[in-house]
Amino acid sequence: MRLVLVGPPGAGKGTQAKFLEERLDLVHISTGDIFRANIKNKTALGQEVEAYLAKGQLVPDSLTIRMVWDRLDQVEKEVVSGEKRGWLLDGFPRTLDQADALKEGLAERGLALDAVVLLAIEDAILVHRLVGRRTCPQCGASYHVEDQPPKVEGICDVCGHSLIQREDDQEATIRQRIDVYHGQTKPLLSYYEKEGILLRVDADQSVEAVSSAISLALQA
Ligand code: ADP
Ligand code: AMP
Repeated sequence: MRLVLVGPPGAGKGTQAKFLEERLDLVHISTGDIFRANIKNKTALGQEVEAYLAKGQLVPDSLTIRMVWDRLDQVEKEVVSGEKRGWLLDGFPRTLDQADALKEGLAERGLALDAVVLLAIEDAILVHRLVGRRTCPQCGASYHVEDQPPKVEGICDVCGHSLIQREDDQEATIRQRIDVYHGQTKPLLSYYEKEGILLRVDADQSVEAVSSAISLALQA
């Protein structure tokens, strides 16, 4: 299965990706996580993209698309060999040019997306979710200081690493990221609706309820 998770920052993409990854035996590909790992490791790519993430702006399409294809081509080898049953893109595509590049690249390889899952939610909820978000830099798990606290404060339940607050989870940057979503990413919804592969899920429910709604929508 080849899936895309789309939705505004804070909709719960990373949280739901962790469930789907396990349940459907997919590889989770988060462009945000890949950029942050490159910044942490001070790679050339990390140095190039750091300022965009800090300001809550999108990384240029050319860089992002190249990076995604490097990763997807690796992951496709695992799918062809039967090691994995597919992949799940989280945070990509985010522009129409990225969506075109994905579609064309897949078609060249004789592949296509099975579904695009939209986590639909009002803006008002996002700021609360992101201001309180704590993430694990080791395994990517997401928590919320009030709504989804870890069992031990500041420590990841999954891997035991210390949790961090992302630098771009400050209110002004969050608002900028939400604006970017409305301006540049929202047009993807009608793009995928026209293709008949958009599945809309109400993301303003408990984590478990959203997860069940996604399973129902995917019939998987
Ligand atoms: P995204 O990857 O879309 O930016 P995350 O999965 O990191 O979003 O979730 C953002 C924040 O919202 C985190 O603090 C997470 O714990 C919390 N969260 C995720 N899903 C829900 C939910 N269904 N209800 C309440 N809080 C949630
Ligand atoms: P995320 O972890 O998905 O919230 O993404 C964090 C940041 O990484 C975004 O605010 C962008 O700066 C950058 N980013 C992630 N995915 C993309 C993408 N598909 N296109 C451009 N920039 C991206």
